[in-house]
Amino acid sequence: MDSYSLGYANIALVKYWGKKSKDPVLPYNPNISLRLDNLLSKTKIEKNDNNIDEFYINDEKQSQEEVDKMIKFISKFTPTNREAITIRSYNTVPTAAGLSSSSSGTMALVLACNEYFKLNKTTKELVEIAKEGSGSSCRSFYKLAAWLEDGSVEELECSLDFGMMVLVVNEDRKKISSRVAMERCVQTSTTFDAWVEKAKGDFVLMKEALKDADFEKIGEITESTSTSTPSFSFLTEESHMAMDIVKELRSKGYKCYFTMDAGPNVKVLYLREDQDKLYEEISKLWKKKIILCME
Ligand code: ADP
Repeated sequence: MDSYSLGYANIALVKYWGKKSKDPVLPYNPNISLRLDNLLSKTKIEKNDNNIDEFYINDEKQSQEEVDKMIKFISKFTPTNREAITIRSYNTVPTAAGLSSSSSGTMALVLACNEYFKLNKTTKELVEIAKEGSGSSCRSFYKLAAWLEDGSVEELECSLDFGMMVLVVNEDRKKISSRVAMERCVQTSTTFDAWVEKAKGDFVLMKEALKDADFEKIGEITESTSTSTPSFSFLTEESHMAMDIVKELRSKGYKCYFTMDAGPNVKVLYLREDQDKLYEEISKLWKKKIILCME
């Protein structure tokens, strides 16, 4: 039977920006994310009859560099004497546009390997494996996840029902991957240490705000941690226009907050109960595409 494994995108409410260590994979600061159930990757693995490893996203053959990257990763946890495979994946999340396709893709790939190679790993083990492929993919296994400085991943609880939409500025593949951008920031930003310290404080505040179901506080912290350190920016003029729309609506009483990641697209955090009226208002002001992340 054709069965696909699903992996989800996640967007950080408290960001991390760079890894303190690659082996083991450790973030510089603890961070918290929200899973986007509507932005996903579905992946299955098939035997390759031509005896070469291949990788497709949305039926498009991926470059040898991408194939090598996937194979290097899965070789860490799959049998060494395996036959050649085709990794077949479909993304509903735009690929490499700052909406965490690396997280959804890696989670789906790890689950697909678990299935195809009959690895019988527990969720906890799969979370650990995923981290080696894409650090933040470890957070995609839980609706609300905290990735701590010691590398462990915790599921968090909050009684609020969140919604998120993307004001799409550009869905194209970005020119610089998140990994390269993060490394560049760590090496060149003169304010990186201060940024990490602030993020550590924000992490504590966010955990409290989630526990208290205090949406205003959650939104304020989300917005305040969303800017990267100044040495690098993916934002365009249109990203700023989209952020201004969110601020304008907030000044009119709408409960909405923006967050940015390694890409130009603007994500808006709100409560699910407000989705219809917020979508209506935003559509009047934002004429480009809007993606609802949690229908
Ligand atoms: P994003 O912001 O979308 O995460 P990145 O540049 O961080 O962008 O990561 C993009 C990379 O994620 C791709 O080059 C590819 O290696 C990986 N990726 C994207 N989709 C998938 C998928 N469906 N399966 C496996 N890996 C994927």
